[in-house]
Amino acid sequence: MNIGFIGLGIMGGPMAANLVKAGHTVRGHDVSAAPVERLAALGGEAATGVPDAVEGADVVITMLPDSPQVEEVAPLVVAHGRPGLLYLDMSTIRPETSRRVAREAAAAGVRALDAPVSGGERGAVDATLSIMVGGEKEAYEAARPVLGALGTTIVHVGPAGAGQTVKAANQLVVGGIYGLVAEAIVLLEASGVDPVAGLDVLAGGLAGSRILELKRHTMIRREFAPGFRIDLHHKDMGIAVAAAREAGVALPLTGQVAQLVAAARAQGHGSLDHSALLKVVERLNT
Ligand code: NAD
Repeated sequence: MNIGFIGLGIMGGPMAANLVKAGHTVRGHDVSAAPVERLAALGGEAATGVPDAVEGADVVITMLPDSPQVEEVAPLVVAHGRPGLLYLDMSTIRPETSRRVAREAAAAGVRALDAPVSGGERGAVDATLSIMVGGEKEAYEAARPVLGALGTTIVHVGPAGAGQTVKAANQLVVGGIYGLVAEAIVLLEASGVDPVAGLDVLAGGLAGSRILELKRHTMIRREFAPGFRIDLHHKDMGIAVAAAREAGVALPLTGQVAQLVAAARAQGHGSLDHSALLKVVERLNT
């Protein structure tokens, strides 16, 4: 297939590379030149802009930071896409933005899906992402082969915007686990217990999780290179809090996690990995 790929950052770069590996023709665009050159070196093609990435494409994927970037790029995708184009926005954005994009795309004959992902940079590199898809079932079926080159758990979760709502739920769980692992490390160290031994036991028991499995050692070593930046998780907690308000439900722990992430940002850790929530919990105790 001819695939246009827009947004070649920490996630989009390896995802586009996996599509090249799977035998697709991938024309990539990013506002920054370096990732486009990296994709071209791996066998992709460098597009000169969004229209150039979209024209002639069977599928267009966007992997952009936030709702404003999708609001800027999506109308260009719709304007330059051929009728029947499959447009997969895999960024994490507000559900209402995804619903609007889907409506405007449908009016122009473009099939849009929201397909945000979980699994982090490792999942993007290894093509083991979990992908939650919102939109028309028929468009989901058509997108399945392309999504299969990017992830292993791929689920149609409902109509347009539903993928983003599931992603918001994912992010509040991930933020909560990071916050509690940070508290566990602070407790163990303050009590004179080796945190490596302590978290090794936790990882093998009921408290075990992918986060403990993959991140406990880097957290204990205070290695916070992203990964997933605090700034992006702050954006996602905002989406989760807004989604709760829209649904009319109270999520008290989500509110606390959102404040913890906001504190990490206020303390200047926005460009660190979200595991740097440990720095906030430590500062509360020194
Ligand atoms: P990133 O900042 O590394 O990448 C975003 C890329 O988009 C950058 O290369 C940037 O130059 C480019 N860009 C920005 N505006 C653009 C525009 N108007 N046109 C073209 N390119 C533009 O971010 P990321 O970590 O790859 O995350 C991308 C999305 O995926 C976010 O919504 C994030 O929440 C989500 N996500 C990230 C992770 C992770 O672990 N990093 C995991 C799951 C989901």
